[in-house]
Amino acid sequence: MPVSVLFSRYGYYITLKNMSNNLYPTTEIASAFSIPYESYYAMGKRGIIYDIDNTLVMHGAPADKRSIELFEKLRFIGFKTVLLSNNKEPRVKSFADDVGSLYVYRAGKPSVKGYEKAMKMMGTTPETTLFVGDQIFTDIWGANRAGIDTILTEPIDPREEIQIILKRRLEWFVLRSYHRKKKNCGKGPEVK
Ligand SMILES: [Mg+2]
Repeated sequence: MPVSVLFSRYGYYITLKNMSNNLYPTTEIASAFSIPYESYYAMGKRGIIYDIDNTLVMHGAPADKRSIELFEKLRFIGFKTVLLSNNKEPRVKSFADDVGSLYVYRAGKPSVKGYEKAMKMMGTTPETTLFVGDQIFTDIWGANRAGIDTILTEPIDPREEIQIILKRRLEWFVLRSYHRKKKNCGKGPEVK
């Protein structure tokens, strides 16, 4: 086998391996509303970046009472927040105004640019920032590459569009290997 083929195969393997590590969340939790935020503040986190659709409310839904109360609580604890969405400005701005948060629309997740912009807006670093979202291939992949600790939530609405359903199938494989790795490491949720 030519050396170049061997190298390209090895490179491909390394790329896949790095990619899969970047797809693993730091922690998984059922809902953004059951995260122990005070503990994260005590750990030194000062800013939280949120996905909106299916993380805080159903896709396209306006801010509801529990979202408004969550952001009130986060401000009380001392957190800065940014809503990071690939959606258009009218959708993102109206939600952000209702909960009282900074926002970035058309963020281009999984590009790291939106995450970096969000940290700049909050005046935080990757070490002092937390990300919360429901999708591995956009939310988690981007945040991991930006060096931010990630919390993967379950989607609020199980009925999703066909392109998201297909991504969920792929996510299932990633989560299966993540859970295996977690089990083998025996270190709880902090797998990186
Ligand atoms: Mg989402």
